[in-house]
Amino acid sequence: AVPLVVAKSTSLSAQHGLLIKNRTAFENSRKISTIVFDKTGTLTVGKFEVARVVVIDHQSNDKKQNENELLRTVAALEQNSEHPIATGILAEIKKRSLSIPEVKDFKAITGQGIEALVEGKQLKVVSPGYLKEHEFSEPEDFVANGNETVVFVIINEILYGYIALSDTIRPESADAIQTLHNNGIKSLLLTGDNQMVAESVSNQLKMDGFFAEVLPHQKLDKIKELQQKGEFVAMTGDGVNDAPALAQADIGIAVGSGSDIAAETAGIVLVNSNPKDIVSLILFGKATYRKMI
Ligand code: ADP
Ligand code: MG
Repeated sequence: AVPLVVAKSTSLSAQHGLLIKNRTAFENSRKISTIVFDKTGTLTVGKFEVARVVVIDHQSNDKKQNENELLRTVAALEQNSEHPIATGILAEIKKRSLSIPEVKDFKAITGQGIEALVEGKQLKVVSPGYLKEHEFSEPEDFVANGNETVVFVIINEILYGYIALSDTIRPESADAIQTLHNNGIKSLLLTGDNQMVAESVSNQLKMDGFFAEVLPHQKLDKIKELQQKGEFVAMTGDGVNDAPALAQADIGIAVGSGSDIAAETAGIVLVNSNPKDIVSLILFGKATYRKMI
């Protein structure tokens, strides 16, 4: 039989948008000292919209036509990706009623973008970090700002243009971070997105710090470093890439909209991907175990 306290907490947790897969994780939730948050879809809404399309290497004098050509080429790659950036770009294609060419040899560039052959050309859609590492210089008139996630388009090893996308911070996030703070819990941001976006989100939400442009294999190391400093770490994550770090964290919290692997690895699932439900988890964990003793 299911012990009463478990049955009760399970139904209560459902009301709070939590799926508790592992009771130890729930029991330990009151020990959390630091929460490491992923950004997209957890602290932000996770809905990217194309804000700007910039073509550097012009094909024609028709600005709109150049933009559309860039978009449809990029969309060919993004069709194979499940990243929220891909969803945003494909929505723009639909809005502009563009057709999408065929791709061959699609590959992910882990944590930095994607690549494939499109119409005989080698196409890469990548992060600013990739650009730096591979010694491309940023476009002359390019000004990064913290409100936009930018992906650069490289065709046959030439920087061809970029697409800037915007996402919005969830209305509940600031409150959630503040409440955690009031309970003595630190919040850190861990993201593969660029430095300026990470800093902007971290500042707007008054978080305790951020790690930006983190590659998937480095996420695990960041969690370990925090644990070595004595922190009891909970981490949220959604991607296949996050699974090792979620497993390393003292409490892994999978975000509901994410991959199955993340959900399998984690002890807790945030059904509605909402950071305020983590506050419920902690308060509710404290209340449950206080009553038991
Ligand atoms: P996060 O989960 O923190 O948003 P990811 O590791 O998923 O970070 O992605 C990091 C960066 O890699 C993105 O900000 C983007 O620049 C690039 N990237 C990843 N996937 C794609 C994609 N499908 N299309 C374009 N860029 C991508
Ligand atoms: Mg991710």
